[in-house]
Amino acid sequence: MTTLTRRSFGIAALAAPAFITGAAPLLAQSTVPAGQTASVFGATIGAYRVTALLDGILPMSTSWFPGGSPASFEAALAKSGIAGESIPAPINAFLLQSDSATILVDAGLGGLDMMGPGFGQVSAGLAVLGLTPEDIDTLVMTHAHPDHIGGMIGANGAAYPNAELVVTGLEHKFWTDAGIMAQAPDAQKGGFQLAQTVFAAYADRLILVEDGAEIAPGVTIEIVPGHTMGHAVLHIDGGERQLLMITDAVHNIDLQTALPEQGIMFDTDPALAAQSRMRLFDRAAADKLLIAGCHVHFPSFGRIVRADDAYRYAPTSILD
Ligand SMILES: [Zn+2]
Repeated sequence: MTTLTRRSFGIAALAAPAFITGAAPLLAQSTVPAGQTASVFGATIGAYRVTALLDGILPMSTSWFPGGSPASFEAALAKSGIAGESIPAPINAFLLQSDSATILVDAGLGGLDMMGPGFGQVSAGLAVLGLTPEDIDTLVMTHAHPDHIGGMIGANGAAYPNAELVVTGLEHKFWTDAGIMAQAPDAQKGGFQLAQTVFAAYADRLILVEDGAEIAPGVTIEIVPGHTMGHAVLHIDGGERQLLMITDAVHNIDLQTALPEQGIMFDTDPALAAQSRMRLFDRAAADKLLIAGCHVHFPSFGRIVRADDAYRYAPTSILD
């Protein structure tokens, strides 16, 4: 079991945008911003219809990726035709539907007023699919950062009133451990409070799982630590089509396939996150898995291929 220590906070103690520190998160009046549009795209993975739901676009910058040399960034991003510091990335949530399950993997930033307008579109995405929040029976929290859990709560508590909340025991322990919270820099305490608010909203239907838990037939949770200590990815066994949902192992797919050791400032343990990322890339490339990620270009389905001494992201269109 991973030991959580003060050191675990690592580079996350940098002056991070309020987005991730959770400093004074405010809940907007409604989790459905006026004028929002829905962006959804679905693919069949075995018994599941897997639909990417766009919550909004994060204005990421190369400055969120510390420690690298500007020249290496420039060269890596130039391969993808990107110049300059602006590297916006989506916040994606994913809906998994089968005959017996309606699972939402993360819920976006929702109505949290941290990153400006334009977020909270997951609910509109569900609506165009003919679903209401009441239809979700399982909510998976891949990790407890605001861009994944903000949409899990609304003005009246749980935004998904009938859903069980599934999270790894490690992730739950980290964010609810009073000792760890006490050691965290003040600027990060809001993040703990937000996570605890979400856990409290689902307290009577909280399911803590371990590495390898099968949460529905063919849907397995794997703990891939580093970004957070209980950070989870999902493997969906669709027979001939296998999907590895790499969630937040990647924050900019162009940059981090070219420079796979490069972390983001929000990684709890950047070195561990890098190891985890490279293991996932190796596996996805070797096994020719489809991947999808919470910050991979919407709608996020693609593959990882080896390129030179690193990797490359190959977007994939799926017909059914
Ligand atoms: Zn994220």
